[in-house]
Amino acid sequence: MTADARTAPRGSGTAPWTRAALGANLLGSDGRLGITIFEEVTALAQEHGAINLGQGFPDEDGPQEILDAARSAIADGANQYAPGQGLPVLRSAIAAHQERFYGLTVDPQTEVIVSTGATESIAAAILAFAGPGDEVLTFEPFYDSYGAVIGLSGATHTTAPLRAPDFQPDAASLEAAFSERTRIVVVNNPHNPTGSVFTRAALELIVRLAERHGAIIVTDEVYEHLTFGVPHIPVATLSGAADRTLTISSAGKTFSVTGWKVGWLSGPAELVAQVRTVKTFLTYTSGTPFQGAVALGLGLPDAFFTSAAATLRRKRDLLGEGLRAAGFDVFEPEGTFFTTVDAAPLGVEDATDLARRLPSLIGVAAIPVAMFCHEEGAERTRSLLRFAFCKRFDVIEEGALRLGALRERV
Ligand code: PMP
Ligand code: GLN
Repeated sequence: MTADARTAPRGSGTAPWTRAALGANLLGSDGRLGITIFEEVTALAQEHGAINLGQGFPDEDGPQEILDAARSAIADGANQYAPGQGLPVLRSAIAAHQERFYGLTVDPQTEVIVSTGATESIAAAILAFAGPGDEVLTFEPFYDSYGAVIGLSGATHTTAPLRAPDFQPDAASLEAAFSERTRIVVVNNPHNPTGSVFTRAALELIVRLAERHGAIIVTDEVYEHLTFGVPHIPVATLSGAADRTLTISSAGKTFSVTGWKVGWLSGPAELVAQVRTVKTFLTYTSGTPFQGAVALGLGLPDAFFTSAAATLRRKRDLLGEGLRAAGFDVFEPEGTFFTTVDAAPLGVEDATDLARRLPSLIGVAAIPVAMFCHEEGAERTRSLLRFAFCKRFDVIEEGALRLGALRERV
C-alpha cells in the first residue's frame, strides 16, 4: 500500500473505474463508497423515525399462497443450486405469462433465463453487448444501476431527456442522442422515477431508431402490471422489435417480494445465449425455493393482477392529495410505485438538500430525482423529489399529515 492510499480519505483508494462508473450517486454524503441514495435515505428515515416514502419497497406481504409455496419448497428440500438458466417450471411460467398477457411466443428452453432480480439481467445484458468504444443510450432520469453497469462495461453512457410535466420521450432529442456507436438503447417502461408510461408512438420511435442504428433494445418492464388506466405495451410486441429486444421483469414489484430477488429476461435465442454466458459468471444461479413460488404467482388469475394495480392506484391518489395540499406541484404518475413532485412552489431550489433534511424536519423521507441523472439532467431536475406510495394506506395518511407541516418549516 502506498502512503497516499493509507492517508487518502475513505473510498478514494478504489479502482479508478469505480469512481468514474459509479459516480456521485453511489457515494453517501459522508463519502462512504457503496451506499446508494436509496440506502442512505432509508438509514436517515430509520434514524429519525420518519415515514419512509423513499426506497421503493412495499410494506405489506404479497399473496399468501406464494409465501406458503416458498416455505414448502424449503421444507421439501429445494435448497440446492437450480439450473443456471432457472427452474424449468419458472421458465415455462414466464413463457406462459408472456403469451397470456401480451400474445408473445417465447421458447422456455432457449429464450428465457431467470436471474437474481431484474438487476442481474440488466447487468448481464449490458455487459454481454457493450464495451469500450460503444455507446449505451438511456433516458434521463435513469434507474441508478444502469449508469453503474454501463460504467463497469467501459462503454460511454449517453442520455435522452424525459422532461416534465409528462416525462415522455421527446422525438428530436431522442433522434439526436442516437449515433452509429449506439450499441444498446435501454428502455424503462413504466418509468422509475417519473412514473410515466410511454405512449405507443414513443415506443415505436425507439424501435425505428434502434433498427436504423443497429442497436439492441434492453427493456426493463419491472412495473409492467402496475399501470393506472393506461395499457402497458411491451416493446417486444411492436413491429420490427422482437428480433432485437431483450425484455426484463421481476417478481419483486408484482408480488411485493422485493427481497426475493427473482427476475428474468426473454428474447431471441442468440441474444439470450450471450446474456446467459455473462450471467453464469455473475451469480451462476439464483434462489431455488423462490423460483417455484414465483412460477405459481405468474399463473394467478387475472383478478390478482388487476386488483393489485387498482389498490396501488388508490394509494397514488391518496398520496397525491397530500402532496398537493403540502404545496408541491404534482406530476401524476400513470404507473410504478412513484410520484414525482416539484418543490419549487415551496421556495425549494435544491431538492437533494431538502431530501437530506426532510426526515429530521418533518419525519418523512423521499428521494431527489437529480440522483437519477448526470450533471445536465441533475440541473434540469434540481427541485424535483420522488415519493413512493407502495405503502399501507395508514402509513401514507400519516406521511401526508406530516407533509402538511412542511410549508412553515422549510
Ligand atoms: N429496474 C427498475 C426500474 C427498478 O425500479 C428496480 C427496483 N425495484 C429494479 C430494476 C430492480 O429490480 P430487482 O429488485 O428485481 O433487481
Ligand atoms: N427500485 C427501488 C427504488 O427505486 C429500490 C432499489 C434499491 O434500493 N436499489 O426505490
